[in-house]
Amino acid sequence: MNYVFSPAAPVAIPVSQSDSFFPVRRVYCVGQNYAAHAAEMGGDGRQPPFFFSKPADALVPGNGPIKYPTQTNKLQHEVELVVAIGQGGADIQVDQALSHVFGYTVGIDLTRRDLQAAAKNQGRPWDLAKGFDQSGPIGAIVAAEQCGHPSSGRIRLSVNGTVTQDGDLAQMSWNVAEVIANLSTYVQLAAGDLIFTGTPAGVSTVVRGDVLSCAIEGIGTLETTLV
Ligand code: MN
Repeated sequence: MNYVFSPAAPVAIPVSQSDSFFPVRRVYCVGQNYAAHAAEMGGDGRQPPFFFSKPADALVPGNGPIKYPTQTNKLQHEVELVVAIGQGGADIQVDQALSHVFGYTVGIDLTRRDLQAAAKNQGRPWDLAKGFDQSGPIGAIVAAEQCGHPSSGRIRLSVNGTVTQDGDLAQMSWNVAEVIANLSTYVQLAAGDLIFTGTPAGVSTVVRGDVLSCAIEGIGTLETTLV
């Protein structure tokens, strides 16, 4: 194939305890999947899950620094369990959904909250509030054959050592299997897809120099500094 220029290499995330990498295809994110966070965002009650996307190349694998983004004065963190799809499908049944999972990791859905609020007010898309450069720091993927399929476990984020988010995976409004099943009614999932599964309450505004440290019990940790 004669490309007019060399295509970018796929974003590749290290697989824990392995020499292999997980090549990313698409990145989906669930909005307001923990009731307490939905409430802090002004939502009410259990709504069907809804989804948005980040570009795959917005991901930053590992613990490297993140450049504070342009066009915002209100950058916020959202620590999330990230599901890595290993086998695709459409109209996946809930009771089959976990068999499509390759593994799990911890990620941060960085959000330009001021741009998102303006977009909400004007009925405009969230894309550039959520899908900007380096908006997805992400840890190494742990294969499900090692960590199982977590339905509970503490999920935390601290800023400069002070805990801001402290929840449990069991608080998700829609669990991993339900999220996969629902998303697969909208799009055909494929190996390489990632799903950020939403964030517990406690999102806060961060500034340059802040150190964000995340942990999900049984899955792993992630730390990044805003520069
Ligand atoms: Mn999020």
